[in-house]
Amino acid sequence: MVPTESLLHKTCYFGITELRSLGIYVPQPEIHVIDNFPPPYDTSPVSALTIGPNADTILKGGLYFLRNDVRPYYSSFLLLHELVHYAVADRDRNIARGLEEGIAEVVGSLYLAYKYMGTSVARRIFTYNRLFEADHTLWDLYLDYTRQAASLYLLTGLNGVANVLQGGRGQIKAVEKAYSLGTLPSSPLIPEWDSELTKLVHSLVLGYVPHMVVSPMAKYLSRFVRANLSVRNIIRSAGVEEHLGERALVELAESARVIALSPDLTLVTHSDCELVQPSLRYSTPG
Ligand SMILES: [Zn+2]
Repeated sequence: MVPTESLLHKTCYFGITELRSLGIYVPQPEIHVIDNFPPPYDTSPVSALTIGPNADTILKGGLYFLRNDVRPYYSSFLLLHELVHYAVADRDRNIARGLEEGIAEVVGSLYLAYKYMGTSVARRIFTYNRLFEADHTLWDLYLDYTRQAASLYLLTGLNGVANVLQGGRGQIKAVEKAYSLGTLPSSPLIPEWDSELTKLVHSLVLGYVPHMVVSPMAKYLSRFVRANLSVRNIIRSAGVEEHLGERALVELAESARVIALSPDLTLVTHSDCELVQPSLRYSTPG
């Protein structure tokens, strides 16, 4: 067994133990690291997938990881998400989607992941792998449902979410239907929250600003921008070509709206670059 595979087993043991302590029974899955997913799974853009324990499919029950995508930490992060699917796949062969994906994110990719690898590593992995700038409906939907699961968590507590998971996919779908009808979910339990998970949910899922994305040059230049600095000084400090620097500053002013420029475009009159710089992201064309 290669080191990362034994790490996955260790992560799996941790995840099962934690989920059971929330009252969610998860059978022990087999873990498979394979070169390619067979059809019909080969068209999926994911690096890991779950097949329910009693599934009647080409793949037998277990958690599957693509060999080329296996990484320390990242694969553990994925495994903890997949375990949530495995917990509810037992009783219902429906596909995993919708709110179930969101709950797998909140309970697996945030709660279990922060407990397993620490808040700062879990936060980074979530940021780089879930909050990337993507114009891709599937990943956008994941985030939409993660917000729905975050709402469920904040309304009903971690014990409320666990209670829904205990009810399996049917219960998850009933909650998703409530959201779809515009009614709020309720729980028979007095809500109990985990303070660290609450912080992660607020900062990464609810308080996160998905559209604060600029070009690489604007992102770079934002480090040098301060109010009352001249455009020429900023461009000189950054050491970039003048016309590229000017274009990036106009972008920061007009697209991201984090700075204001004087009418003749020679002076930065207002700037919030210092404020947004840590979370400002860039995208590359294509
Ligand atoms: Zn999933």
